[in-house]
Amino acid sequence: MLKNRSFVLPLSKMPNKWINILYTLPEALTPLVDPATSQPLPVEALLPLFAKSLIEQEINTKDEFIDIPEEVQKVYSLYRPTPLIRATFLEEALQTPAKIYYKYEGVSPSGSHKANTSIPQAYYNKKEGITKLATETGAGQWGSALSFACNQFGLECLIFMVRASFEQKPYRKIMMQTYGGKVIPSPSDKTKIGKTLLEDKLNYNGSLGIAISEAVEMAMENNDTHYTLGSVLNHVLLHQTIIGEESKIALEEVGDYPDIVIACCGGGSNFGGIVIPFLKDNIVKGKKTQFIAVEPTACPTLTKGKYAWDFGDTGKLIPPALMYTLGHSFMPSPVHAGGLRYHGESPLVSYFYNKKMIDAVALQQIEVFEKAVLFAKTESIIPAPESSHAIATAINEALKCKETGEKKTILFNLSGHGHFDMAAYESYFGGTLENYDHPEEKIEEALKHLPQINFGCGND
Ligand SMILES: *Cc1c(COP(=O)(O)O)cnc(C)c1O
Repeated sequence: MLKNRSFVLPLSKMPNKWINILYTLPEALTPLVDPATSQPLPVEALLPLFAKSLIEQEINTKDEFIDIPEEVQKVYSLYRPTPLIRATFLEEALQTPAKIYYKYEGVSPSGSHKANTSIPQAYYNKKEGITKLATETGAGQWGSALSFACNQFGLECLIFMVRASFEQKPYRKIMMQTYGGKVIPSPSDKTKIGKTLLEDKLNYNGSLGIAISEAVEMAMENNDTHYTLGSVLNHVLLHQTIIGEESKIALEEVGDYPDIVIACCGGGSNFGGIVIPFLKDNIVKGKKTQFIAVEPTACPTLTKGKYAWDFGDTGKLIPPALMYTLGHSFMPSPVHAGGLRYHGESPLVSYFYNKKMIDAVALQQIEVFEKAVLFAKTESIIPAPESSHAIATAINEALKCKETGEKKTILFNLSGHGHFDMAAYESYFGGTLENYDHPEEKIEEALKHLPQINFGCGND
């Protein structure tokens, strides 16, 4: 008899509320601080950049749940509920007694979980009278998700794309343009900072830090324009909780509950999204689920970073927050999982880790690609290099079960497909993919440049 593999909830069971974990853990709310005074930034300081509703969500400790507006639910219905899949083909190949499930977020129009937050971000901005959103994109995942969402709500979308990626990833660019987004290679002549930086030829290829500065300047200088972030912030993790909520409902229907939940961790949004509903059960109902955040050894923010106040970006425009960080000047080696090359970590995920509510591991990319290819050959979905970190860890946990005979239930988040990452697979097959040494000295150097903030705890 064939086993049922794919569990897709009917639209009527799609959650209509996000889970606000700040209600359960109000002390997890750490402010953004002004680096000049070490004092928390007043909310008004963020108003030129972000929609008021999003700032309210950022600091909300009063509401256990936040209603998902009907307009947002409608656009979610383009691809949600997403399937929860039992990895029967992979289980067979591994000969493991463990049960492996994955939540597949690659079915979104832009191919990753990032659409879960781009949709509400576009919606709230539109509702508050904004006509244009500006953002930056490196590999193009966030730019694609925002461009898709802006099109749905009739907003203009301005994407500053690191020039090196703009030239190397023409298909991501065309995807953003298909949804109507304006893609500008950064540094550009559209902003003051871009013009200044262009005077030095060394800046021509751009960097994520430069692209952020250009998008922020656009928002600061124009009343009709706001800035958006695709990860890290509390409101982004809030929007992503729909991943874990749906997983929980679908698992309930098959009579299962995870012993381990695994996700890759860049800025922490897909990890927070799948983990928070189960983590809340650990806190409130005394469940004992284990959570594993997976990062690349080239950018080991949780496993080797420091819990300290640091800037959110290389250009020091995003005010300091308390988080695990490798230092804002840390430049990770060029691993293919571009979405995991972030020096910092979501303050919420950092809080969970500091309180030992979650575990973290770091993996080398050759192992990650070996296991991504095993997954592609068994389950037949070609995963994004970022998501493959979660796959590799799920496989390792399933293999441990094979040794011990334990029948654990493992759930991981397949945050996106890898259809635009064929160059990475090509270098794996061509044998040119490199592992990188632990960047201990680079981290030590970058940690010397943390801002001096004297607020509450931190810098311990
Ligand atoms: C952006 C991205 C990530 C990393 O971002 P998080 O905020 O840590 O989730 C992971 N997977 C995919 C497919 C991405 O596009």
